[in-house]
Parts: sequence; C-alpha cells; structure tokens
Amino acid sequence: VLQVRDIVKRYGPNTVLAGIDLDVHEHEVVALIGSSGSGKSTLLRCVNLLEDLDDGRILLDGVDVSDPRVDADVARRRMGIVFQSFNLFPHMTVLDNITLAPREVHGVPRDRAEARARELLARVGLADRAGSYPDRLSGGQQQRVAIARALAYSPRLLLLDEITSALDPELVGEVLALVRELAAQGATILMATHEMGFARQVADRICFLDGGRLVEQGPPEQVLGSPKHDRTRQFLKRII
Ligand code: ATP
Ligand code: MG
Repeated sequence: VLQVRDIVKRYGPNTVLAGIDLDVHEHEVVALIGSSGSGKSTLLRCVNLLEDLDDGRILLDGVDVSDPRVDADVARRRMGIVFQSFNLFPHMTVLDNITLAPREVHGVPRDRAEARARELLARVGLADRAGSYPDRLSGGQQQRVAIARALAYSPRLLLLDEITSALDPELVGEVLALVRELAAQGATILMATHEMGFARQVADRICFLDGGRLVEQGPPEQVLGSPKHDRTRQFLKRII
C-alpha cells in the first residue's frame, strides 16, 4: 500500500528525517517508536503530504504521490489521519464534524454524507452521539469521533499519531480497543505510539526511529524482546 523511499526532511539546519525507507503492506499494522524528537510525527505528516520533502518519494499503491504534479488533496483523501489532540470543531455537532469535508470540500450530497457518518459512528460505538457537541464527550469519545472522521473516505491507509497520549489513563483502553478492532477487520495502519504493550499486541512490525533514521525494524517480539542495536536497547531500557 505504502512505500516510503529515502525521504529527507529538514527544518532550517535541522535534518529531522535523514533518509527513511519504509514499506507498509496491505492489512499490515506498523508501529513507529522512538524518543521524543526522533521524527515519528514528521514522518506521518510527510506521508500524509502535509510537509514538502527535501528528498525522496512516497508511493501510494505504486503511484508517486509526492510528485508535485499529483493533486495532494486527492491523494490525501486515500489516507486518514488522527492526531494526538482531538482536533474536532467545537462549534459543530459530531455529525457535522464528520460530514464537513465530504460535503464542503468534495461535494458529497448531505443525505449520503450523513448516512455514511452514521454508519461510521456505529462502527466506533457512538451511534447515539451524532447530535452531541464535542465538549459533551469524553476525550476517548472525541478521539473515536476523530477516527470515524478519518474513515470517511474508506482510506487505504490510516495514520495515527500518539492518539492516546492526551487521554486520561482510564480512557486509553476504549480507543486502543477500537484500533485493535480496525486492525482485525483488515485496516492498514501506520501509527506512532508510546504504548509499548499495545504495539506488542497489535503491530505486525515495529520500527524504531532515532535521530531521523530508521535504526531497526522487525516483529514486536524481536525489536522489543531482543533488539539488535544499542540505540534500541538504550531506548527500551529508559522507558520500561
Ligand atoms: P514526540 O514523541 O515528542 O511526538 P516525534 O518523534 O514525533 O516526537 P517530531 O515531532 O517528528 O518528533 O519532531 C522531530 C524534530 O523535528 C524535533 O527536533 C522537532 O523539534 C523538529 N520539528 C518538528 N516540526 C517542526 C517544525 N514545524 N519546525 C521546525 N522544527 C520542527
Ligand atoms: Mg510526535
């Protein structure tokens, strides 16, 4: 589904991604781990074409979507992204939050957009909250709405950036359970996470980033259990 080829991203003099190669295959769940500042969010933003690359290419289903001649909006619609902070529009109902982009940006008729949104809300366990405003929902519920919104176009690839790190601990479980369910239903997911237990359970592969490089990748039991690189060992020692 996704092929990241040797991408480089700099902010001024800082090289934040120093040549990353990464593949995500259909139905695969790949977790990005690494210390703060290692480049996880930047990588997800680059994949979602929210950042210009300094070098390298991003292929989605074999098509180079980082080519400037490609319409980034069209490519972006085939990916869903959810961020750490729930960025729902506070003045809109849950239903309007989900249908806004399909209706306003892509001209989907209201009844069709709403039918799809209700289907997605049922899928994330919030069928009865369509008319609620975000501030009436718990953080976990808001994040599930954000996931429903990301699923609006049946994306080929779901990008999740630390989606539980702003949640109270008792709300983390429901969001992780939803991700687990989407994974079981065959979603293709690339996610940054600091929930090592979760990564171990749901990820097919774990990628350890350090200083903008992909230092090590492999099955969870290998990367977390018997890492090959010193940097990975040091990172794991620090967080456990
Ligand atoms: P965290 O675990 O804290 O979320 P991360 O692995 O997601 O960290 P990034 O957010 O990708 O790390 O940041 C990587 C580096 O890029 C950091 O040094 C950060 O300061 C820098 N950076 C990120 N965004 C920008 C920006 N818009 N302008 C300048 N520097 C940036
Ligand atoms: Mg980040």
